[in-house]
Amino acid sequence: MAKKEFQSESKRLLDLMINSIYTNKDIFLRELISNSSDALDKLAYRSLTDKKLKVKKDQLQIEISYDKEKRLLTISDNGCGMTKEELESNLGTIAKSGSLAFKENMSQDEKNSIIGQFGVGFYSAFMVSDKITVTSLSVDSEDAYLWESEGVDGYTIQKGKKDKVGTEIVLQIKEDTDEVSYSKYLDEYELKNLVKKYSDYIRYPIRMEVTHHELVDEEKHEYKDTKEVETLNSMVPIWKKASKDVKDEDYDNFYMDKFSDYDKPLKVISSSVEGMTSYQSLLFIPSHAPHDYYTQEYEKGLALYSNGVLIMEKCADLLPDYFSFVKGVVDSEDLSLNISRELLQESQGVKLIAKNIEAKIRKELETMLKENREEYISFFKTFGVQLKYGVYNRYGQDKDKLKDLVMFYSAKHDRLITLAEYVSEMKEDQENIYYASGASVEKIGALPQVEQVRDKDYDILYLTDYVDEFCITAIQKYEEKPFRNVSDEDLDLESDEEKKATEKANKDHSDLLKEMSSILGDVKEVRFSNKLKSHPVCLTTKGDVSIEMQKVFDAMPNDMGIKAEMILEINEKHPIREKLQDLYENNHDEFLKYTKILYSEARMIAGLPIDNPTEISQLICDVISR
Ligand code: ADP
Repeated sequence: MAKKEFQSESKRLLDLMINSIYTNKDIFLRELISNSSDALDKLAYRSLTDKKLKVKKDQLQIEISYDKEKRLLTISDNGCGMTKEELESNLGTIAKSGSLAFKENMSQDEKNSIIGQFGVGFYSAFMVSDKITVTSLSVDSEDAYLWESEGVDGYTIQKGKKDKVGTEIVLQIKEDTDEVSYSKYLDEYELKNLVKKYSDYIRYPIRMEVTHHELVDEEKHEYKDTKEVETLNSMVPIWKKASKDVKDEDYDNFYMDKFSDYDKPLKVISSSVEGMTSYQSLLFIPSHAPHDYYTQEYEKGLALYSNGVLIMEKCADLLPDYFSFVKGVVDSEDLSLNISRELLQESQGVKLIAKNIEAKIRKELETMLKENREEYISFFKTFGVQLKYGVYNRYGQDKDKLKDLVMFYSAKHDRLITLAEYVSEMKEDQENIYYASGASVEKIGALPQVEQVRDKDYDILYLTDYVDEFCITAIQKYEEKPFRNVSDEDLDLESDEEKKATEKANKDHSDLLKEMSSILGDVKEVRFSNKLKSHPVCLTTKGDVSIEMQKVFDAMPNDMGIKAEMILEINEKHPIREKLQDLYENNHDEFLKYTKILYSEARMIAGLPIDNPTEISQLICDVISR
């Protein structure tokens, strides 16, 4: 029979599996059992809507058997099974293959990380077997089919023999080597332990024939072996257990298995709620963002169960967008199974659960921030952008729920702080919460405008995320204290005397300043100011749109033409002022060059592009080569 080739990415993964020295080979069993459990879920769900299907729920199960002599390990289930096409598409390719980051000459660590991250699943069985045979009869098919493969060479599919709907997977276990004893996968005691360790929570019985040593004669120390089929797992879903009865390790393993993560979760949140709509929930905050988290592909949602039947793998309505990183399971007996999935999402029950879950997650995060700051900061560095996004999204509707969870970098403390912390440390004469934005803490620290505020010993929040300023604009005020960008044209930090002096300078030189402004065109105004200490120039803005916001708008695909109103400020104490005065009176050509150079300097400091770099560079050369 003709062999079919594996899809190329799958082939590489297979190759990786077969030649893997991945130490945790045990996981293959968990993967196969978990696939079986999914297949049982699917059948149970189908039987709810398809009355013709006669499924006895209490007979759904997974069976394990082994043959030491022939080195065969069999895992079978009476789940939904696979049609010929499904065998082909499910086992000939890997669903997630698109996201596999293959490279040439990968180190063993990199290979292991791929196996850990994605490679689990059916293919992991090749870590322990020379040959795999899958016989399956689908609920949707008359005939059973047999899929067979010895690895990278390819696979065959032909008609098979199976009377009952379901899937049987037979592994030809590898011979032992000096390093690895594959025989453990043919050992009753080992298999029992593996099931207990990784698959205890599976809600269907995992059954295997086990041997009981029975003492028949105490005096003669005579034993008799009896064999009996036993259920190896406790079958109580982990979320139904009281958290005091569950080891941290078990929660971690459940999470890593169910949500295909190679790292433990940062936080486990378990709760059981009694009321109008009773439910149990087990939620996890991942310790790192899933690889596709900040892409369109990422789907938020919690697995929704009702009466032990999985209704939806990812019920999006259970989570607000700003907590979309949370993974987990919700199980409620009070949701009616007789309505469609679409209607279920509209149900009051789901809405109520969603509301409770939102509040629960928020409370947990607040507690974490209060009691374990280090952990919170680790969380915030990973998912903080999502919270900040949540503050201004939906027209700021959720800002009050989130404003105490967001943190910003404090110039004074050189670390992240909350808004409450900022306000509690404000100076007596300080009226505003000051912030400055830019590409990095270092760049913001070097902004000329920062100096004046820091000189007053006021703290400044340094905003480095593109969402930050939008977030702050949405919050507007915190404890009645308005936010103030240090690049605002009028910070009002000078003494009356200083103000008067500046006003006078501006008035006395209004012709010169107007001339500069008309040379430049795209600034609203040019003026002298005393907010600068050492720098000659800076850009400030008038109105709601700051320079950083303009950068975000400029980067959007549909440019809406939203521009900041910019003011070029010139340090009145800087020698450049005299120079400008002199040129204005005696050499208009030079005056024009200086004006352009100074404006370009200010744009550079603000991190804005220079529209005509060649011209400016020539102007600078002209001036310095003199
Ligand atoms: P994953 O389970 O992550 O989707 P796998 O490689 O483990 O990836 O399995 C691929 C697919 O093969 C599954 O999604 C499922 O559709 C199908 N499958 C695997 N095992 C079984 C089984 N025992 N019964 C029915 N379908 C199965």
